[in-house]
Parts: sequence; C-alpha cells; structure tokens
Amino acid sequence: MTEKEKNEIKKIIDDQLLSISDEIDELTELTKPIALDNSIGRLSRMDAINNKAINEKALRDKKQTLQKLTRALDRYNEDKLGTCLKCGGDIPFGRLKFMPYTTRCVKCA
Ligand SMILES: [Zn+2]
Repeated sequence: MTEKEKNEIKKIIDDQLLSISDEIDELTELTKPIALDNSIGRLSRMDAINNKAINEKALRDKKQTLQKLTRALDRYNEDKLGTCLKCGGDIPFGRLKFMPYTTRCVKCA
C-alpha cells in the first residue's frame, strides 16, 4: 500500500469509529431497563421487550466492531495495517477499504 492509500484507510477507520460510538450511545440508551409501571399498555410493553432484545444484539455487534476498529488503529500506528496476520502477505487496498478492520488476506480469510 502507498502512503496515500494508508491515509485513506486511516480516515475510514476514524470515520467509522466516530459513527459507531454514536450508535453505541444511542443503543445503550435504548437498552436501558424497561420501567415496570403501567404507563404503557401490555402490548406496547411486549413490543418494548422485543425491541430491547433486538437492540441488545445490535449493541453487542457494534461493540465488537468498535474493538476491531480500535485494533486496526493500533495496527496502523505500528505500521502493520494491510499485512495479513496469517501469511504476512499484503491485504488488497480494495478489501481494506471495504473492511478496514480485516486482519487477513482473501486467501487466508
Ligand atoms: Zn494471508
């Protein structure tokens, strides 16, 4: 990868880190415990419980992606971004652009 390509990936990682942090804040808000009062009806209560489960799953996924992005940033700082962790080969720029946190080349994935 050229310096320019590396910088482009770094920017994608930064952007994704920002937006995912926002999404995590939002989902954390949405997955707060549901109040046990009767201000909402039984049916909307069930809705709320279903939505909460979906949001909790989304929150877990986002947190995982956040971790992967943070590790990608570490690899960028160590100048290892774009190197396959398994075979040491180069990860194509197009693949990194699509999945900046990937640690393996197409062959090893
Ligand atoms: Zn590989």
